[in-house]
Amino acid sequence: MRMKQPIPLNEHAPLLNKPVKPAELSGVENLIRQMLKKHKTPFMIIRKSVLEKQLSRFQKAFPQVTPYYAIKANPHPRIVKFFAKLGTCFDVASAAEMKLVLKQGAKPRHIIFANTIKSKEDLVTARKRRVRLMTFDNEAELYKIAENYPGAHVILRIRVANRGSVVQLSLKFGADPDQGFYLLRKAKGLGLVPKGVSFHVGSQSTNLENYLQALELTAGIFKESKESGIPLSIVDIGGGFPIQHFDNEIGINFERMAGQIRRQMRELFPKSTQFIAEPGRFFVGPAGVLVTQVVGKAFRDHKNFYYLNDGVYQDFSGMMFDHCKYEFKTLRRGQKYMSVFAGPTCDSLDILSSNEEVPELFVGDVVYVKNIGAYSSASAVPNFNGFEPARVILV
Ligand SMILES: *Cc1c(COP(=O)(O)O)cnc(C)c1O
Repeated sequence: MRMKQPIPLNEHAPLLNKPVKPAELSGVENLIRQMLKKHKTPFMIIRKSVLEKQLSRFQKAFPQVTPYYAIKANPHPRIVKFFAKLGTCFDVASAAEMKLVLKQGAKPRHIIFANTIKSKEDLVTARKRRVRLMTFDNEAELYKIAENYPGAHVILRIRVANRGSVVQLSLKFGADPDQGFYLLRKAKGLGLVPKGVSFHVGSQSTNLENYLQALELTAGIFKESKESGIPLSIVDIGGGFPIQHFDNEIGINFERMAGQIRRQMRELFPKSTQFIAEPGRFFVGPAGVLVTQVVGKAFRDHKNFYYLNDGVYQDFSGMMFDHCKYEFKTLRRGQKYMSVFAGPTCDSLDILSSNEEVPELFVGDVVYVKNIGAYSSASAVPNFNGFEPARVILV
């Protein structure tokens, strides 16, 4: 239970700069107004209609690819349950995530254990829960899997270029593609069932070339394996699919990217190939709207400084871990001034933006951010300095 009193909305702030009339509010802003009547800030609205829209955009763009929602982007149980009800598959990285998705109704055969490094205990859990499909990228892992989950189905993750991606993943994961066939043969020798190849081009990847090259490397391993009597069937194209964070952002066109990736798939692989993907950000990012309020205001270095009740230790944690930038919006219109937004903690790291052009704000005013559903609450610290992350509200 939170004991904080709600901060009253400021309806009486000085004039030139009145709150916007309801008729002038956007759809999201009207939704925020509604929610403010019932909920204390900070809160994170997750719109189910947008979750569904992102899923269907993905399915339209990649009709032949089965998406496994990577829950690390946002593991909120109600989001997982929502996708499970739609029959979506899941990508989990630990036994805890596995238990969470099973509890929310996912079927074991709809789950991939997509962490190439798994503890023995987690492998035992996977065996007990019959989550049979998993990734690996090294020999030691194969011995561990063979010992703790005999007969498991394994997918080799290869290291691929992450050029231009906002979050690099090849620094930590992926076997050298030259070693690919050797490792798959080793898996078979240990009694495991080699099923295919996976890669991850890095998160928020706007560079199409990463996917195209990765598919080419994958096709090479498929060919070598087939010729040597270890036929593979699954190509896992990972995650990384980019979203727009700013209203006027250019250079992000998921549908066009998907079209090119699809063409490469068709050219390089037989029709019978089973394609899967592991989108995280793409599924939940656009669904999230974070609503905060100004709790304090100062004037320093010729700028208005606004202190919000959510910061980098909370739902803006993506600024640290996800290298993410956000678009700050208010419910006021009028002349804009260069301003600073900061979080509520006593750490000067907790500054969200030093150069935002916004109308003058007052204590109690709302500041909100769209497209913040992924890698935000997921990596928030529970209670640093006594400040809790936003409550998540599904609508
Ligand atoms: C993080 C991660 C994902 C999801 O990545 P997005 O960029 O959010 O789509 C998918 N697969 C693996 C193995 C991951 O580590």
